[in-house]
Amino acid sequence: MHVVTESFELQTQGNTDIIDITDNVARAVQRSGVRNGLVCVFSPSSTSGITTLEYESGAIADLQRTFEELVPRDREYKHNLRWGDGNGHSHVRAALLGASFTVPVVDGRLTLGTWQQIIFVDFDVRPRRRRVVVQIVGE
Ligand code: ZN
Repeated sequence: MHVVTESFELQTQGNTDIIDITDNVARAVQRSGVRNGLVCVFSPSSTSGITTLEYESGAIADLQRTFEELVPRDREYKHNLRWGDGNGHSHVRAALLGASFTVPVVDGRLTLGTWQQIIFVDFDVRPRRRRVVVQIVGE
């Protein structure tokens, strides 16, 4: 069994910026030489998350609006009272979304659906330089 760990960087705009990272992950799997196993994509941050979406402007806008409805920015957050950094909603949204996503790898390819992309969502309130960790486990 092989374990290969990589990372890549992203420049985001913050404020629920949604970025398609499918190609970054697929290239990491190809480089690893692993043919069958799992790839875990992880964001080491408390104000961002990773999931899947059909990456088109309608679905992107719908997901952004849903986060605004579920966890509005203009509510009072104890985190903001304590730290004054204004991103209480960012932490709550990130906790709901989750920091990682795992995809089975079969014959060297991600087993994603045709309209299923892997997305990185940055909930922080300003542009950020982000690092994403990709770990491939298999043979
Ligand atoms: Zn904070």
